[in-house]
Amino acid sequence: MVSRVIPVDSFDLVIFGGTGDLARRKILPGLFRRYASGQMPDEGRIIGAARSDMTCDEFRTMVKEAVEEFDPKSAKDTENLEKFLERVFYVAVDAMGDGGWKELGDLLRPDMIRAFYFSVAPSLFGTIAERLKTFDLADDDARIVVEKPFGKDLETARALNKSLAEHFHEGQIYRIDHYLGKETVQNLMAVRFGNMLFEPLWNSQYVDHIQITVAETVGVGGRGSYYDTSGAMRDMVQNHLMQLLCLIAMEPPAKFDPDAVRDEKLKVIRALDPVEPHHIVRGQYSASEKSASYREDVENPRSFTESFVAMRCEISNWRWAGTPFYMRTGKRLKARTSEIAVVFKDAPHSIFGAEAGVHRNVLSIRLQPNEGMTLGVTIKEPGPGGMRLVDVPLDMTFAEALGPDAEEVPDAYERLIMDVIRGNQTLFMRGDEVEAAWAWTDPIINGWTNRNDVPKPYDTGSAGPDDALMLMHRDGRRWREIKE
Ligand code: NAP
Repeated sequence: MVSRVIPVDSFDLVIFGGTGDLARRKILPGLFRRYASGQMPDEGRIIGAARSDMTCDEFRTMVKEAVEEFDPKSAKDTENLEKFLERVFYVAVDAMGDGGWKELGDLLRPDMIRAFYFSVAPSLFGTIAERLKTFDLADDDARIVVEKPFGKDLETARALNKSLAEHFHEGQIYRIDHYLGKETVQNLMAVRFGNMLFEPLWNSQYVDHIQITVAETVGVGGRGSYYDTSGAMRDMVQNHLMQLLCLIAMEPPAKFDPDAVRDEKLKVIRALDPVEPHHIVRGQYSASEKSASYREDVENPRSFTESFVAMRCEISNWRWAGTPFYMRTGKRLKARTSEIAVVFKDAPHSIFGAEAGVHRNVLSIRLQPNEGMTLGVTIKEPGPGGMRLVDVPLDMTFAEALGPDAEEVPDAYERLIMDVIRGNQTLFMRGDEVEAAWAWTDPIINGWTNRNDVPKPYDTGSAGPDDALMLMHRDGRRWREIKE
């Protein structure tokens, strides 16, 4: 069912930062899976580039070990893994200097799609873009892939956009938000715009509210020094959660093409109201018996950075005026789950009387774990004893609906990289979208700084600070349970 794999054209993909954590954990194992599935052509090549002095053979060994470590199941296909490694190369390049660029140029083939993945610190994006042009490695058809974070506020995002735009036009720039590469996120668009059933109800007349939850059980881990300068608002809300909100709230684009989709998402961001301070809660996780506190994790005893944020947002347009969007995300919470829940309004009148209780349809879209969707519908409880109502889920868990083929569903990164090779920007953020998202989040973050706001402590393994619960209780609503 799913496994119809359409091969992409031949390419040379250069991964700057090919020896780094992201490359080893996600990009390289993902590319191997695309190769093993038959999507990556035999002429496709991957070139790792970083400062480390390494031969091609040493890099191949590193790639092999990365696949074995991060995708042991796929690594069992040793025949394909060996063939894949023959397509892997390495050049030592210093993004800040001139060493290695000529050798990189010698390795690249003419008349091939060229893609350059910037899997390095954002401070290197501008200099790599510049050197690609100086050394004549990228023509007008080449693509560059840029990792998050894309700036830390509007000013830095604008500066980054400007420095990339000096060397590449917007149609060449692929800003990754890997949430957009998730199967369910695309399915959300298929469900909304491929069915007659949902779209007529998709507005403030029928939708009571929408909840977006991205909960993690892990702490900041080894990313402490980066995270402490960022916080949940910059690290998660400005990009991932806002992208999900856009896809839920946008008007139907005229076509499923990059600019049509991105134009509609941009309109949503621009229609978002500023968030009142009492509609937002920040939190910071405390120590538990088994784990350290946030401040211990980031080794900053006076840190006021948030590891949790919950907020109530409003979109001022015809479709959504009056329907609140609640978003929350945090670390060290009760369970690892990402869910969008569309909670519909009560039926206007219950013919079954008050004792039948209140039943609401909820469309739950799960991004992880067990990607899929569930629509809660109300039916009669089976058996005698009168008209008792019960809510049952219509379950569309992909793994169950699609059977063994579901395992073939590509991971977000590999899907997005194949889109880069195809030249399809639909699932990538455009420069103006990123800037609009910062323009909305900046006043919130600046407000915290100006007020010396102190995040509320919350217990590891909880659902966040109590104030986050109150945020909804005040409106007579409840968060959905955080569970796997
Ligand atoms: P990392 O593990 O620190 O790797 C950085 C890579 O950049 C290494 O390969 C390093 O190799 C190379 N590098 C450093 N300075 C260089 C230079 N002057 N010239 C050429 N190469 C250079 O970082 P990462 O975690 O992979 O993250 C890479 C990017 O992805 C960052 O922008 C990060 O924010 C983003 N990101 C990462 C994750 C993740 O899960 N890791 C998730 C989302 C986004 P050498 O030292 O050999 O040069």
